[in-house]
Amino acid sequence: MTRPVTAAGATAVSAPVPVREDLGRLSGYHSPQVDVQVRLNTNESPLPPPPGWTEALQKAVAEIPFNRYPDRQANRLRAALADHHGVTVDEVFCANGSNEVLQCLLLAYGGPGRTSVAFEPTYALHSHIARLTGTGVVQGNRAADFTVDPRELRRVLGEAEATVTFFCSPNNPTGTLEPYANVEAALALSGGLVVVDEAYGPFSGRSAVALRDGPYGDRLVVVTSFSKTWSLAGLRLGYAIATPAVVEALESVALPYHVDAFTQEAGRVALGFAGEVQERVQSIVQDRERMQQRLARLPVDQWPSQANFVLFRPLHKDGHEVWQQLVERSVLVRDTSGWPGLEGCLRVTVGSPEENDRFVSALEEVLR
Ligand SMILES: *Cc1c(COP(=O)(O)O)cnc(C)c1O
Repeated sequence: MTRPVTAAGATAVSAPVPVREDLGRLSGYHSPQVDVQVRLNTNESPLPPPPGWTEALQKAVAEIPFNRYPDRQANRLRAALADHHGVTVDEVFCANGSNEVLQCLLLAYGGPGRTSVAFEPTYALHSHIARLTGTGVVQGNRAADFTVDPRELRRVLGEAEATVTFFCSPNNPTGTLEPYANVEAALALSGGLVVVDEAYGPFSGRSAVALRDGPYGDRLVVVTSFSKTWSLAGLRLGYAIATPAVVEALESVALPYHVDAFTQEAGRVALGFAGEVQERVQSIVQDRERMQQRLARLPVDQWPSQANFVLFRPLHKDGHEVWQQLVERSVLVRDTSGWPGLEGCLRVTVGSPEENDRFVSALEEVLR
């Protein structure tokens, strides 16, 4: 590229183009990556996907006509997902990770002049993506047990005319399940979409999908992901189950061909291994229970978790300091100690049994 040249022959330099003013106030979302041996900070599965999946995928990939654009509607993948959940193809929307599903929801139903609601502390990206899309953000507060008190729900939804209300169940980073009475109450109170983010749903064995048959179920959107329970964070595939009108709206704001041919096949093939994946989910839940039993013998508070992570708070020591001393022992957990409502807390992902041992031993040492 040539730069404009002034009459004097010097290259003209102008001031940097300012980014959108409202973006300047947002810091990007990131989980610090530190070089450690035991990485328990991003809630990934400690296990690779089933070996049968890799083999079946290699065969499927050989058949993909890569010179052609992918099926824009991702019909085979959506049909497989519809089968998996007992819904119809036109009730499934797929995207490049569930974060892109959230972004499409906010592009279609949020935007300038509209409001979204989230109850903190919860998944930071709900509010972050809302702000990126110019959507107003109203934040309610969770109670001490990290569920949403019905009075708080009524207060917040009564004041905000929200077009999108977010729940996260199990909630990241607290691990707690959202009582479905709250989801139903939000549907009745708000008039907007109510989104239940179930990125960790299978660890709890529960899903809000059945609530779609209840009152106002046509405004309920259940969002989930292949990243955590399917051991496929490296793939980038998430989806929503919603009424066909909502699916159509999401398709209208997504970029053309946003789910590539490889991802479509990889997800479709993965659904053939649902049984094996379910066994892994069970074994991670058992490892989580073992970890919770060991945490119960240490001087920490912890919260009941229905996910693949545990939120805990050292009783006599500063949370950030504990985080730092764990890093010095090559164990990385998520430092949530500075988040509003989570003062002093840390979140640990359930890893392999060896990783969990390393974490608990390091924590014992640090707290001693
Ligand atoms: C990890 C996570 C996701 C996953 O996002 P992807 O884009 O599918 O990787 C979504 N929601 C919550 C609450 C999460 O913790």
